[in-house]
Amino acid sequence: MKEENSYEQIRSLFTGYMTDCKLRKTPERYAILECIYHFTGHFNAEMIYQKLVVNFRVSLATVYNTFEHLETCKLIIRHQFGGKLTQYEKAFGTQIHNHLVCTQCKNIKEFTDKQLRIAIQTKTFSKFDISHYSLYVYGTCSKCKEKIVSIQ
Ligand SMILES: [Zn+2]
Ligand SMILES: [Zn+2]
Repeated sequence: MKEENSYEQIRSLFTGYMTDCKLRKTPERYAILECIYHFTGHFNAEMIYQKLVVNFRVSLATVYNTFEHLETCKLIIRHQFGGKLTQYEKAFGTQIHNHLVCTQCKNIKEFTDKQLRIAIQTKTFSKFDISHYSLYVYGTCSKCKEKIVSIQ
């Protein structure tokens, strides 16, 4: 996984994928990709839609549909943190990181750990090539812990 990718590289990856899948290369799809490229952190289809709709004619259905394609061509990663909404993040330009998920408020904190990263990346699995990984650690965040303590 490369850390630095220019928008042109990302765009040509997506173009190649759309050509292979015989998809129409619409301005909407590129606008969605560009919006994601400039986005930091976790997002969902609604959030990207809200950002785009301000000055672009796009439907939420198109955003959902494009997300599916972006996931298939590995430009975004889908997360299921345990909340109701599926969240995504860029699979490019983001440092490899893990997630602390609060089971009370569903808040997510990212953390990096060099030892963990090396342990996973140097591990070889038989008949399996790693493309990416994501580790979720579930628990209670400090804010929720305070609340629980004050109730008791
Ligand atoms: Zn919490
Ligand atoms: Zn993340």
